[in-house]
Amino acid sequence: MQTQILGYPRIGANRELKKACENYWAGKIELQALLQTSRTITKQNWALQQAAGIDLIPCNDFSFYDQVLDFTLSVGAIPARFNTVALNKKNTELDLYFAMARGFQKDNLDITAMEMTKWFDTNYHYIVPEFVKNQEFKYFSNSIVNEFIAAKKEGFNPKTVLIGPITYLLLGKEKEEGFDRIDLIQNLLPVYFEIIQDLINHGANTIQFDEPFLALDLDEKSKTAYREVYKKIRKEFPQLTIQVATYFDGLKDNTALAINLPIDILHLDLVRDENQLDEILNQFPSQLKLSLGLVDGRNIWKNDFQKSLSTIEKVVNKIGEKRVIISTSCSLLHSPCDLDLETNEKNLPTTIKDWFAFAKQKLEEVAFLKNYFSNPNDEKLIQQYEANQFSINNRKNSQLIHQTQVKERVNAIKDEDYNRANSFEQRKIVQQNVLNLPPFPTTTIGSFPQTQEVRSWRAKYKKGELSAEEYDVLLKQETKRTIEWQEEIGIDVLVHGEYERNDMVEYFGEKIAGFVFSKNGWVQSYGTRCVKPPIIFGDVYRPVPMTVYWSKYAQSITEQKVKGMLTGPVTILQWSFVRDDQPRSTTCKQIALAIRDEVSDLEKAGIKIIQIDEPAIREGLPLRKDEWQNYLKWAVDSFKLASSNVDDSTQIHTHMCYSEFNDIIQNIADLDADVITIECSRSQMELLNAFSDFNYPNDIGPGVYDIHSPRVPSKEEMVDLIEKAAKVIPADQLWVNPDCGLKTRHWEETEKALIEMVAATKELRKIYTPKAI
Ligand code: GLN
Ligand code: ZN
Repeated sequence: MQTQILGYPRIGANRELKKACENYWAGKIELQALLQTSRTITKQNWALQQAAGIDLIPCNDFSFYDQVLDFTLSVGAIPARFNTVALNKKNTELDLYFAMARGFQKDNLDITAMEMTKWFDTNYHYIVPEFVKNQEFKYFSNSIVNEFIAAKKEGFNPKTVLIGPITYLLLGKEKEEGFDRIDLIQNLLPVYFEIIQDLINHGANTIQFDEPFLALDLDEKSKTAYREVYKKIRKEFPQLTIQVATYFDGLKDNTALAINLPIDILHLDLVRDENQLDEILNQFPSQLKLSLGLVDGRNIWKNDFQKSLSTIEKVVNKIGEKRVIISTSCSLLHSPCDLDLETNEKNLPTTIKDWFAFAKQKLEEVAFLKNYFSNPNDEKLIQQYEANQFSINNRKNSQLIHQTQVKERVNAIKDEDYNRANSFEQRKIVQQNVLNLPPFPTTTIGSFPQTQEVRSWRAKYKKGELSAEEYDVLLKQETKRTIEWQEEIGIDVLVHGEYERNDMVEYFGEKIAGFVFSKNGWVQSYGTRCVKPPIIFGDVYRPVPMTVYWSKYAQSITEQKVKGMLTGPVTILQWSFVRDDQPRSTTCKQIALAIRDEVSDLEKAGIKIIQIDEPAIREGLPLRKDEWQNYLKWAVDSFKLASSNVDDSTQIHTHMCYSEFNDIIQNIADLDADVITIECSRSQMELLNAFSDFNYPNDIGPGVYDIHSPRVPSKEEMVDLIEKAAKVIPADQLWVNPDCGLKTRHWEETEKALIEMVAATKELRKIYTPKAI
């Protein structure tokens, strides 16, 4: 029996890589210092794994920015717009690489970065390969081999992780018409061969090809490509140990395809789909080794040794110990680094900490499973096993987790609790009477610039350098200024600015019971951006109001309507580490009830408009299509549960940071929010078509100001955008607002852009007289 992991976090336990990269970009450190940081991190990671007892240690899991981009550079798929950067001798390979990742604005050049998108259903983002019709590939960067050589020098003999050829092509985007990227395999495979040969020449004998697409829905063409490609690799390298790693779902209908590939090791994600095992074992070919992804690479819970060991036993009985590898479910890239760094009892109580395992602890779990299986009588191992079972049972039965009242409340939810009392049509009339808004009402999405100053107050307050009263006074001043400024420039529905919030999920997580926060549990989101997701460990409820204080204050200083601002249950769930001892849908409904309580309290406090942000609904969609409806049902229900317990006259808004709604438009309509604001300006309103084709009945605010850029759009541009929108959506359904919150913008451009936005709206009110008014 052997052990392995599929990859290890490369950010460094104290985010050393982030800091080094950012310093390098800022010109504060030299290239050598950056390279030294990377060498230190990789060396530490290998040593850690070896010490823990991992047999197949990965290399090439390191990356300065993103592993897909690394591979793009390795195979020379450099988009033509970067040629000038590539050809300029002054630029190093790493300069070119960072230019592709981040864009290049130097030497009189202005080259846009490559696009970034979510890595399957994780919160990690990769750089999307760009392919053209006759895309050529060449062995361009030898960073893969260099990392292998470095590992060898340090005395390791690692397996090299490569993105599998089919997955690499499927991850990419066709930048012109008239070809299918899968067909590029003819040009790509020879470069794989060169890389593999180079690795073999330097002493490599094992390669892990990551092929997560094998666990997704595949068309026939891709299936055929899988068969042919691995046949060719096998033929070219008969001696090579070829592993294919699948993760993030079960093989399901691709089972026969995957297990019949001419490879040596097949890895399964048994956390995501434990039920796939029996069927696979029944037809498992005799030459193949099976890697069991038992330790969750995407969550922070301790492995249940009893459960894992019984799976191992079942597999060993069927195919024999020698053909079994114990592994994490996927790369540990998605886990925080080291639980040992969490020493703050106040943050993370010892009892709860004892239920967790971060990346370093997961290495030990993998190694333990193998050791204990082989030495069940070893005293020390027995003790570890017992300690593990103690933690598992302690968590199962803990008073901290189980709140009878919360469980009873979820069980008692009735159908009518999901619905508003009356239809949107009826509500719209009542709301118009109460709110008395002009046509094309203007509003913003919630946050206003979080200046350095605002953030420094929070930091000082947390350190105890500002008292609660002092902090409160400063926030109130800032809020007041923002309210007055919105009044002055003529915005119709005001927001308080969200100055009291650090992050739209963390703010609520800190106030809702059932959440804890780590101090150092960073996970890479993209490039040098890391996030520290809240951890939902127990039943969720809201002990006290969370936002009423600020909304009430803001409303008290103006005659105009101030919008209450909440984060929705699906988004809170989606951006946290979620408990694994009950269905996600149950946890989501618990959060929804907490938000429902907040909505009621806001309403009682006189807030007439309440926005519940759900930017993460779409990203929660399961990878397999046949699971979509089940997810959408509970996601939509959760939003409705949170939002429906209000009078007809209370207007519910929601906000989403994207606008690809074609395939979920029915579900978006089912949310029955009175107003939805969406991202729209980049696509020039094209994305509104989903709403018009569907005859979307409720009100819509398509964003007219792209807040992701410091650029100030002109009044004319915005008039143009709204007119485009008014061509497809009846004018009396339209609101005017930016794409998203203004938190990351500076005041300077925000002021200018919003003044232009209001001016654009005034123009429009002259042209259009919506029928309802
Ligand atoms: N209300 C939030 C804000 O304005 C919404 C942020 C988001 O959609 N991601 O910042
Ligand atoms: Zn947004």
